[in-house]
Amino acid sequence: MNLRRSQELFEEAQRYIPGGVDSPVRAFKAVGGTPPFIVRGQGSRIFDADGNEFIDYVCSWGPLILGHSHPKVVEAIKQAVERGTTFGAPTELEITLAKMISAAIPSIEMVRFVNSGTEATMSALRLARGFTGRDKIVKFAGGYHGHADGLLVKGGSGLATLSLPNSPGVPESYAQNTLVAPYNSTEAVTQLFRHYPKDIAAVIIEPVAANMGVVPPKPGFLDDLRRLTSEYGALLILDEVITGFRVAYGGVQTVYGITPDLTCLGKIIGGGLPVGAYGGKREIMEMMAPVGPVYQAGTLSGNPLAMTAGIETLKVLNQPGVYERLEKTSARLEEGIAKVVSSLNFKLNISRFASLLTVFFTAEPVVDYESAAQANTKLFGKFFQQLLAQGIYWPPSQFEATFTSLAHSEEDIQCTVEAIDMALSHLQN
Ligand code: PMP
Repeated sequence: MNLRRSQELFEEAQRYIPGGVDSPVRAFKAVGGTPPFIVRGQGSRIFDADGNEFIDYVCSWGPLILGHSHPKVVEAIKQAVERGTTFGAPTELEITLAKMISAAIPSIEMVRFVNSGTEATMSALRLARGFTGRDKIVKFAGGYHGHADGLLVKGGSGLATLSLPNSPGVPESYAQNTLVAPYNSTEAVTQLFRHYPKDIAAVIIEPVAANMGVVPPKPGFLDDLRRLTSEYGALLILDEVITGFRVAYGGVQTVYGITPDLTCLGKIIGGGLPVGAYGGKREIMEMMAPVGPVYQAGTLSGNPLAMTAGIETLKVLNQPGVYERLEKTSARLEEGIAKVVSSLNFKLNISRFASLLTVFFTAEPVVDYESAAQANTKLFGKFFQQLLAQGIYWPPSQFEATFTSLAHSEEDIQCTVEAIDMALSHLQN
C-alpha cells in the first residue's frame, strides 16, 4: 500500500505535535508503521492522503454510530452554523438534548453538558465527593475513564497499549484516593468497602468494559456493585461514554436493569462533535453550581453545533428497528470471524457485546485486565498490519473495541471477513 504522503505528514507532524498526534493511540505505537492521515469519511469508509480507502471499524472511537458524514447530521450542522457557532449563553437546543437523554435513560433526571468524556467523569467524581463528603473512589484495573489525574491509575486504552499503568505527573496524594479492584470481582470490592467503610465516595465502572478490549460483566456483578454502594452510602457511577446509545438506546443500564446514581456520557450524544455529559438523580445533580456549591463550568459547554449533531443522531437512533439492524450486522461479523477461527491451528477469543467486538489473541477466557493482558500483542500487531494492507481499518491496539456502525453493509462485513481469513491464514503459516 502506498503511504508516501502520510509518511511525509507524519514526519512533519512529529516536529510540531508530540508523537505527531493529539491522542496517543493514533500514533500506531502498539502495532508499528505509519498511521494513514485521513482526509475524508463517508458511510463506513475513510479515505487517506494517498487516496487509499478503508472500511472503518474505529468510527472515531465510537461517536459515529451512523457512519461518517450522515446526511441528516451534516445538513443540521450546516444550518446551525449559519446561526452562530457559540454564544456562552443558554439555548433551547440544550433542553432538547437533555430531554431526549432523560427519556432514553430514566436514571438521568438532570444532566450537565461538558466537552469530553474526560470532563464528564472528572466532574461526576467531584460531585460524588461533594455529595458524600468522602474522598476515595473505586475503579477497576483496565478501566479507562479519561485522563483526569486520579483516574490514570491502572487504566486501559492507550495506557494499556503503551504499558503505562500510571502516568508521571499525577501526585501520589491523588492516586492514594483511587482504589483499584479487578474487573468482575465482587469479592475485591467487598473487601475494599470493609476496609474503608466510611471513606469511599463512589465506585466508577464501564458497565461493559471496552478499554481492555471488550469484557462484559459477569452475571450479577453490576447488581453486586449496586447493592454494595447502597449499603455503604457510596454512589454508583456508570461510565457509559462508549456504551450509552450504543449497546441499546438506553445504554447498558437499561439492558441489565441497573439504576446508577450518576451516569457519564460522551461520544454518540455529540454526533461526532466534542461533547460529554454527566447526569443522574435530581437531589445529587442539584449539588452543582449555580444551585449548589460544587463547581464546574465550561466556555463551550452545550455548544450549539454539538447539541445539534447529538439531537440529529439520537433522532435517527430512536427509530424502530435500528438497534436490531446494528445487532444483525455485528453478529454477522462475529459469526464470520468465528468460522474462520474454527479452521485455524491456534485458538482465539472473540468477545462481542452488541456492536463492540474484540478478537483477543489468547485461547483463555478473558474476564478482567489480567486475563486480557495475556493476549499475544505481537501477533495482534501482525494481524492489524495484514488487515490495513487489505483496506480494513481495525483499532490499532489489542486492548480496544471495534465499532460497527449502521453504515456498515453486508458487503462490507463479507469483505472484512475475507480479509480476516487471509490475515489469519497468513499468521498460521
Ligand atoms: N470513559 C470511557 C469509557 C472512554 O472510553 C473514554 C474515551 N474513550 C473516556 C471516558 C474519555 O473520553 P474522552 O476521550 O472524550 O475524554
